[in-house]
Amino acid sequence: MIVMATNNGDVGIRQAVAALKEGKTAVDAIEIGIREVEVHRPDRSVGLHGYPNILGYPQLDALIMDGRTRDVGAVGAVTGYDHPISIARCVMEKLIHVFLVADGAERFASEMGFEKSTYVDPEMPEIYAKHVREQLGIDDPEEIQHTKELWKLSHLAVDPQKAGGTTNFIAQDGKGDICVGVSTSGWGWKYPGRLGDSPVISAGGFADNRYGAAACTGTGELAIRTGAARNVVTYMKMGMSLEEATAEGLRDMNELDSQRVGGVQIISLDASGAHMAGTTSDRKGSHVFMTADMDEPEFVDGISVPYEGS
Ligand code: ASP
Repeated sequence: MIVMATNNGDVGIRQAVAALKEGKTAVDAIEIGIREVEVHRPDRSVGLHGYPNILGYPQLDALIMDGRTRDVGAVGAVTGYDHPISIARCVMEKLIHVFLVADGAERFASEMGFEKSTYVDPEMPEIYAKHVREQLGIDDPEEIQHTKELWKLSHLAVDPQKAGGTTNFIAQDGKGDICVGVSTSGWGWKYPGRLGDSPVISAGGFADNRYGAAACTGTGELAIRTGAARNVVTYMKMGMSLEEATAEGLRDMNELDSQRVGGVQIISLDASGAHMAGTTSDRKGSHVFMTADMDEPEFVDGISVPYEGS
């Protein structure tokens, strides 16, 4: 039994491991762990307190994948709900579809009985105004609401490796079943409606009991373009070790030179429960993990497969 996570994952990892110890499934543990991070207000990369889009409101993305059946549920560009991971789980368990976005996802959340959040971030108006003033050179945030060339401003979004975060969780329960979950407010100051990798199955997360699971943070565009999480699991299927597969998944993204900003961190776990992290930057990746016999989670450094340009 193990849970691994990134980016404030330590906020929810104890609850996730406790759930596994009570005999709950890996899917339960993922939802329980991520829900804690989704309301951890100091984290500006997950939940309704995350950095908003360029118009100033948050749009949240999440996915969950059950490695036992390869069932998945995902939601994108959702606003007004505290727990996109739970909406994603409902998509997985109640619908024949696997991915809902925006007003359709919000309608579904309401039909599933989720309460609309009443949370209002007291600090966000000032953070938004400061970003608009200092990064975009616009004194009155109201001006942005009326611009016809919003796309030019979204190019000034801060590199997600600096402004981002996202939480990734991977769990393996007592039966050996594996589940992956991802939740994010996405790339801060993004263009409205932009989806990163986090809700995109195979890009932001993938799990298959037979081989393992992987999940990503960082520039979602790179992970989408290579199908990063799925790649790592496929490389394990082809016989690579966890470390080889993770490094190869990072190299796939390093082969992309054009349309490139920032980089990506992958966390991965194989069917035996071995786990690691790696990044495309020269900073080593890191993750936190906790097994059933540990009292406290432990942080571990990962590997670096740096992008060096072509
Ligand atoms: N991967 C997320 C996205 O592209 C952002 C992040 O992890 O920082 O939306």
